[in-house]
Amino acid sequence: MTDATTDLRSRAAALDAADPLARHASAFVREGDVVSYLDGNSLGRPLASLPQRFADFVGGEWGTRLIRGWDEQWMARPYALGDRIGALVGAAAGQSFVGDSTTVLLYKLVRAAVDAQLAADPARTEIVIEDDSFPTDRFIVEGIAAERGCSIRWLRVDRAAGATLEQVEEAVSERTALVLLCHVAYRSGFVADVPGITAAAHRAGALVLWDLCHSAGVIPTELDAWGVDLAVGCSYKYLNGGPGSPAFAYVRTEHQASLAQPIQGWMGAADVFAMGERFEPAQGLRRFVSGTPPVLATVALEAMVELLEEVGIEAVHAKSVALTGFAEQAIEALVLPLGARLVSPEAGPHRGSHLTIAHPAFREVTARLWERGVIPDFRAPDGIRIGLSPLSTTFAEVLVGIEAIAEELRAAA
Ligand SMILES: *Cc1c(COP(=O)(O)O)cnc(C)c1O
Repeated sequence: MTDATTDLRSRAAALDAADPLARHASAFVREGDVVSYLDGNSLGRPLASLPQRFADFVGGEWGTRLIRGWDEQWMARPYALGDRIGALVGAAAGQSFVGDSTTVLLYKLVRAAVDAQLAADPARTEIVIEDDSFPTDRFIVEGIAAERGCSIRWLRVDRAAGATLEQVEEAVSERTALVLLCHVAYRSGFVADVPGITAAAHRAGALVLWDLCHSAGVIPTELDAWGVDLAVGCSYKYLNGGPGSPAFAYVRTEHQASLAQPIQGWMGAADVFAMGERFEPAQGLRRFVSGTPPVLATVALEAMVELLEEVGIEAVHAKSVALTGFAEQAIEALVLPLGARLVSPEAGPHRGSHLTIAHPAFREVTARLWERGVIPDFRAPDGIRIGLSPLSTTFAEVLVGIEAIAEELRAAA
């Protein structure tokens, strides 16, 4: 073992010993062959309490209450859980709900915003978005631009960073309907200046929709205080809701009466059980809901929300900063000397909870890593993302993963 490795191992042990959140790592399922899980930013680990939670739900709420469950609690669940997630991202109650996928919620809210802007001023025809945004965000915008005769103004972003305030200031004008950006860039982990960019868009009369997929549950967020109009976020990443768990949306109170979403269904109607002839939208947040809410799919999510409420986002974020800082030291000592590059922001306000390193051999290296139970993810063309979900990841686990990356990279070269 080299001196660098010995030193890093003792540092990892010391960091784990001093970590006030260390005990939570064992609250997650840790069985199986995985020795280092570095992909909690794509799919969080399950909580170990879930088998009991699901059994209680099936045997109790569902099995004994049956259809009465809708009146008793399920109709209210998307908003009750939405409020709790809202509180984690700085939103007062009555503005957030859970339901649909991120993709569908993006469609609803982008359409709602663009339609309202066009109705108020037919010259507001531009949608501003990063050229390296997550594919679903770009594809939704392309589709809506075609449907509504809008044009897209692409921000040419640095792939090792993300959209900057200066770029947005330059792009927005009296023609801008909506700015759609990611709070944390999925590739680099860059944290955008949400309050600054939101204010700049508002000065131009534009609305702003923030995608919180890679920030919700880990990066402190103040949607109300930052003046955000609209937001959507994923619940299976840092919110550990499980594969395909539903997304959440935020619609600022002042916009709820003036926006109309395009997927009109009975659950968004003013009187759900009137079975009326014509669609009348509900007043308030419920108009953004379309059909029956995915109640069963919120069981795991609710358990993680409870844990995050107990620990607090500030403490979770403090551990994220410590984990990414340690990962960076290990990468610098073990991986960069082999010719890889770090393509994520430096420590500070623009660093999210994952780091990306790049090397032409990383596609092959990732396949080898997965075989030995070391699980980062690969993003074409040459990036390995190291996602650090604070409550379920130990410093020792991070080091095991980075040592394995170095070993496999050396073997591939
Ligand atoms: C993960 C992610 C999505 C996922 O959308 P789904 O509809 O859940 O597949 C969307 N946008 C961003 C930025 C993401 O990171």
